[in-house]
Amino acid sequence: MDIINDIELTEYFSLREFECPCCRRVMLSPDLFARLNHLRMVINRPIYINSGYRCKEENHKVGGVSGSYHLQGMAVDIHVKDFLLYDLLLYAHEIDFNGIGYYEKRNFLHLDIRPGPKRVWKGSKLIGY
Ligand SMILES: [Zn+2]
Ligand SMILES: [Zn+2]
Repeated sequence: MDIINDIELTEYFSLREFECPCCRRVMLSPDLFARLNHLRMVINRPIYINSGYRCKEENHKVGGVSGSYHLQGMAVDIHVKDFLLYDLLLYAHEIDFNGIGYYEKRNFLHLDIRPGPKRVWKGSKLIGY
């Protein structure tokens, strides 16, 4: 049987990886996706999507901010096995994700393509632009 969103977008990612875990709805910005593929090619390792699109309910459940770019398909939270999170941050910075959140304890990066000036934060602290 067909599984909804079971579509290979590129050799690296399936649409299912980006869907909301509660309702399986999905929005995915082509611009975000292009940058993510670029990052995947540059690091040459699998990228795991912890969180892609979120509906309002899901975003509330996981404690996301109300204007989260996850609600618009413009953000992903990712991790890469056996790869230094800080190195991943540097690559993401070069590829020009406009919002980068560095979550060291939980070993993931939040990446988004917000308009306007670049923002890089660590926990609740702004660490760069
Ligand atoms: Zn949902
Ligand atoms: Zn996020």
